[in-house]
Amino acid sequence: MFSLTKLPRPFLDRGEGIYFYDETGKRYIDGSSGAMVSNIGHSNPRVLAKMKAQMDRSTFGYRLHFRTHASEDLATKIAEMMPEGLDRVFFVSGGSEAVESCIKLARQYALAKGEDSRWKVISRFPSYHGSTLGTLALTGYDPLARPFDPMLRDMPKIAAPRTYLDRDNLTEEERGLKYAELLRDKILEEGPETVAAFIMEPVGGASTGALVAPDSYFKRIREICDEFGILLIFDEVMTGAGRTGKFVASEHYGVIPDIVSMSKGLAAGYAPLGAMVAKGEIVEAVEAHGGFLHGYTYSGNPLACAAGLAVLEEMQEQGIIENAAKMGDLLKARLTALMERYHFIGDVRGKGLLLAFEFVSDRDTMRPLPKEWNAYLELVELAYERGLIIYSRRTRGGSEGDHFLVCPPLIITAKQIDELMAILTEALDAFA
Ligand code: PLP
Repeated sequence: MFSLTKLPRPFLDRGEGIYFYDETGKRYIDGSSGAMVSNIGHSNPRVLAKMKAQMDRSTFGYRLHFRTHASEDLATKIAEMMPEGLDRVFFVSGGSEAVESCIKLARQYALAKGEDSRWKVISRFPSYHGSTLGTLALTGYDPLARPFDPMLRDMPKIAAPRTYLDRDNLTEEERGLKYAELLRDKILEEGPETVAAFIMEPVGGASTGALVAPDSYFKRIREICDEFGILLIFDEVMTGAGRTGKFVASEHYGVIPDIVSMSKGLAAGYAPLGAMVAKGEIVEAVEAHGGFLHGYTYSGNPLACAAGLAVLEEMQEQGIIENAAKMGDLLKARLTALMERYHFIGDVRGKGLLLAFEFVSDRDTMRPLPKEWNAYLELVELAYERGLIIYSRRTRGGSEGDHFLVCPPLIITAKQIDELMAILTEALDAFA
């Protein structure tokens, strides 16, 4: 084998709805939408037909030579679906590129305003923002970043609000405010005049196991950014395109960020696509100051954009985002009920169909399972053998703790949730 894949996996034959089939005909429930990507399920015939129609016309046109209807129409659709004011769209081919674009726009906005000293982007720990050197500098996940330390610009980080680990007497609202103040403290420590932006995942992804912050956190974070003239970036690469039961997760909190990164569910695995969406005034300031010095060969690729447009139309026509909210509540309740049966499940969390459960040795202290258990790999394999794909990564900063993401395609039905839970329970029984 010449590829860099670690695990010996079967060859994929095809995907259909929420299922995958390997070459031997074995069926798998895609309980993680790949890597939280396939939001509308696999092989959707209407999406494929619209992609074919685009392919027959053109698959590539360089953005400096032509505009394309595919990218213009998708940008219009995204602007329509986004919260008020987020209406300028820049297309890329994936999540890391989307976040990288956000950082560069934030820096160029500072320059456009004559604030040359602002270049730092504060992020959180743990977090995941991508694998390029720029995005890795923001990522709070040591095992991935450590080898590249000498090549990374040291960016300031604050603790993410993992309130499920807290054993204080505060209310959730007070905890949210307590964690938000960490941002204010960090800005003052760094010097407000050096900070361009703060970036966070509105609902955590793989690095935190679907971390949900208290509602109070969001409003306060927005106030703090405004107080110091710092841009608020929401990394919605995983949460965007309906995953949490709204088009973007910020809608749950009534807070509008200045710049948003999206990818994964945007073209839902039908093509590599990502987007940076920004407020008009930011883009206009940068344009007036010589333009956005950034871009990729495949930015605005018409085939990827046609796929993205078809995916979003399908989401709207089939009520897929509403289904994610409804099925998310159902699946979360079913996962929570597992805590009765398995004492090692310490927490179930998440929003919509971005859900996770965490293994612990002791629920009261949330002490993790011993490292040597490698539970995060073992349970994934037990489920895989039985035809269920779930996603796991060792968490709590990468050194301890095991969480599992359960994030099926947003088209899942109640009956299919029964199927998923039956296999998951079998795998948990085999683990116990
Ligand atoms: N940001 C977040 C929140 C993510 O979850 C990911 C991927 O998991 C990325 C950025 C990077 O996306 P990609 O792997 O498409 O480069």
